[in-house]
Amino acid sequence: MKKYKGMGIVLILVVLILGIYFGFFLDRTPPVIKILGKKYIGREDPIIQVYVTDKDSYIKNIHIKLTQGIWSKKIDLPNVKGKKEYKYKINIPKLGIKEGVFSINVSAADNSINNFLLGNQRILNKSFILDTTPPSILMKTYRHNLVVGGAGVAGFMVSEPVSKIGIKVDKYFFPAYPYKGSYCCFFAIPYDVDPKNMTPWVIAIDRAGNEMKIPLRCYIKTRRFLRSKINITDKFLQQKMVQYEQDFKGLTPLQIFLKVNKIIRKDNRARLRKIGLDTEKKILFSGPFLRQPRTVREASFGTKRTYIYKGRVIDRETHLGVDLASTARAPILAANNGRVVFAGWYGIYGNAVIIDHGYGVQSLYGHLSYIKVKRNDLVKKGEIIGNSGATGLAGGDHLHFAILISGVPVDPVEWWDKNWLKNNILYNLKQLSSK
Ligand SMILES: [Zn+2]
Repeated sequence: MKKYKGMGIVLILVVLILGIYFGFFLDRTPPVIKILGKKYIGREDPIIQVYVTDKDSYIKNIHIKLTQGIWSKKIDLPNVKGKKEYKYKINIPKLGIKEGVFSINVSAADNSINNFLLGNQRILNKSFILDTTPPSILMKTYRHNLVVGGAGVAGFMVSEPVSKIGIKVDKYFFPAYPYKGSYCCFFAIPYDVDPKNMTPWVIAIDRAGNEMKIPLRCYIKTRRFLRSKINITDKFLQQKMVQYEQDFKGLTPLQIFLKVNKIIRKDNRARLRKIGLDTEKKILFSGPFLRQPRTVREASFGTKRTYIYKGRVIDRETHLGVDLASTARAPILAANNGRVVFAGWYGIYGNAVIIDHGYGVQSLYGHLSYIKVKRNDLVKKGEIIGNSGATGLAGGDHLHFAILISGVPVDPVEWWDKNWLKNNILYNLKQLSSK
């Protein structure tokens, strides 16, 4: 009797221990399901990945069901059982799914004895949109006469919402922005682009990544830029390179000059492209741009400069603005209405101001001695924004004035000319406004 009693206690203990064991260690977490893919599935990458993991037990089964309207399809996954993780790629168009919304339902169970041996189950539903049709582009402007180093504007409509739209000129991309139910795109033929055998493209990419590109019909005139020699004196190096000493410690003034003229100039240009995106989606400018009054042009746009030190060529660069000089510390006027998008130290341009005039059109004022405005100030044409000076890489007091199209410098002379503005910019904007 005593013996049985002892066995009974052991049995109870065993059941208790097993109960506690399973209570604590029973796998109650279902497998983790991930359905990976972009919301809009395009023709370039029409793949959705199903990813199932179960770290505690093993996977028992996975069921995938695709549904589109009244159509549906089940996919039986082979060799699922006993795996800890399982990846499956679904090629959407191959399965017979048509353009439009569809959904994927994935259910997965593990090997746990939970749920009366059925295992832990998880279900995940996700919907996608299949779109393999690229957008179509309808041009609304036809007159595009440009010169190398000059600017223009084109307008077009697209058949569906887009993720990227604009004009590509060689390696430069100019974004287009909504304009009265269409898109307008200010673009340039940059100074370093050879127009022969080069086609500007209007490019539209939809949300699914489908790309459409059509050639932009335009007439591009070639242009010969001036050449000039600039003598770099020791006096210039002594006086000017102190501004950049902290960036290039331990270098001689000449070495600093070469770094500034190459590296900082390049950085400055890249940064202009970023600032060019900080733009109003409306036309802020009104009429031709103002040329600083009572000034003499000291250097033109596109001039190829050769830098000479002690009779030796040390560098070559292109001048991408117009230099205007008058009296020292002359008041500098905003060339047109706009919003200040930059005011401060800007590398080779010293103290500089950049004003945005909308749709990527901006004006830059360099080498200032004093800045009167700050970022986000709204300015009117003719308003004083600072005083001229010789900060940055400037030999004497003058204004470096540049017009930028999405951060790409163009010849400001066009923007001062009311006939050019009327025939090339305002005419095309009017075409865009008409139905
Ligand atoms: Zn200049």
